Amino acid sequence: MSTKNITFIAIVSIGLILLTQAYLVVDYFQTVRHALIRESDAILKEAFRSELNQRTLSYKISVGEDTLKTVPKEDEDKVLNFDMRKNGVEDESILNSLDLVMHTFLSEFVSINIHDIDSITGPILQKRNIHSKYLVQIVNPKTEEIIANSKDIAKSSFLIIPSKLYPLDFENKQALQLILINPFSEIMRRMGLMLILSIAFSVIALFAFQFLIKILAKQKKLVAFKNEFLSNIAHELKRPVTSLIVNLDCLRMPDFYENEKMREMMLNNSINSLTELNGTISMIVGLAKVEEGLLVLNKLPVDLVKLIDEIKARFISSPSKKLTINAVYESPEMIITADKLMLTQCFSNLIDNSIKYSSATVVIDINVKFTTNSVVLNFQDTGIGIPPEKIDNIFDKYSRVDNNVKVNGFGIGLNYVKTIIEKHSGSIGVTSELGKGSNFKIVLPKR
Ligand code: ADP
Repeated sequence: MSTKNITFIAIVSIGLILLTQAYLVVDYFQTVRHALIRESDAILKEAFRSELNQRTLSYKISVGEDTLKTVPKEDEDKVLNFDMRKNGVEDESILNSLDLVMHTFLSEFVSINIHDIDSITGPILQKRNIHSKYLVQIVNPKTEEIIANSKDIAKSSFLIIPSKLYPLDFENKQALQLILINPFSEIMRRMGLMLILSIAFSVIALFAFQFLIKILAKQKKLVAFKNEFLSNIAHELKRPVTSLIVNLDCLRMPDFYENEKMREMMLNNSINSLTELNGTISMIVGLAKVEEGLLVLNKLPVDLVKLIDEIKARFISSPSKKLTINAVYESPEMIITADKLMLTQCFSNLIDNSIKYSSATVVIDINVKFTTNSVVLNFQDTGIGIPPEKIDNIFDKYSRVDNNVKVNGFGIGLNYVKTIIEKHSGSIGVTSELGKGSNFKIVLPKR
């Protein structure tokens, strides 16, 4: 499946997950809202009945139905706490009708007191753990006109939970309503866990999506890289092969073959091409071996003076630019224990880079010194230098500096050098100044 398709599927999936989460949150909010409305209905009824009982009591007192004008406290409590359910009336609609009849009858003598209902509502809400602002109002159910309200709280509030209208007459002209204003804490209490889980799930999904996109981008980069790497590698291998073919082809011609100077030069060129080819192949194989943990060093005594002079001679014999290589050794013989072939590849690589990343003229100064247990080699060139922001990455595999210089390469040379030097328990570092040159410092243990 292509990266584009995977990205598309991932975007659709994350969209669906977020939409589902949003739907679940909204749906749950509606459920909580309806539950609060049902609870408001019950609270309003309870408050209204309490207020009705109070009015009944006042009425009885006013008309002198009780023999005592002052009702004893326990009797008043009995009336106020009169619960019809406990007294055998079960059906809610019958209760409502009874309330309505009672209210209609009482209203002629003691009118409804919305402020009393309000003050009764407060404790009921507290008892049910609902801590929000509220008001009680009488409205006209047909016109929705507010006839009276218990408080002047602006109703332009963000969230309003109105109870159902509780009829106050048979003509449907007045109805009682309880309104909860901004009951956020209550809603959060009821749907807090759901919200937290939903947000956590969405955040995880978004992180997973971001991670996937990063991996896809990395994969895309890797594919582009692999293609560029393969084309560069093909080019790097083809160059010495082409040069070899040209030189050997010339040697077949008697004119060239019989001219000793020419023959010598062409044979040298051919050997150099083969050495270059061998070096590139060894480097690729070497890095693959390191990755698989199969690289084994063939450590033997190596004279660095001899080794560097040989490499130097090879570069000087077929210079592609105006090249000077100066080598300064601390002593005429500098023997260390190392893998000769691999060190040859490393030093050749550094010199090759100094030539590649320089203008038409280049001077390379090689300095070799012993310390107590190690040898320090400095390869200083007068090349184009490395930009400071890129210098930390140049030893990374496939890392190339885009320095406007059209030079062949595939970014494994320095990585190979570092790998081999570290395999010898040594280290490599670089300092560079743009436009002036670079210095590669290698420290290797003597044995
Ligand atoms: P390659 O030469 O194939 O690009 P290397 O790993 O050998 O790969 O080098 C990595 C990068 O480091 C090069 O692309 C180049 O920009 C920079 N570099 C290496 N050596 C030098 C040098 N002596 N002078 C300037 N830049 C260098």
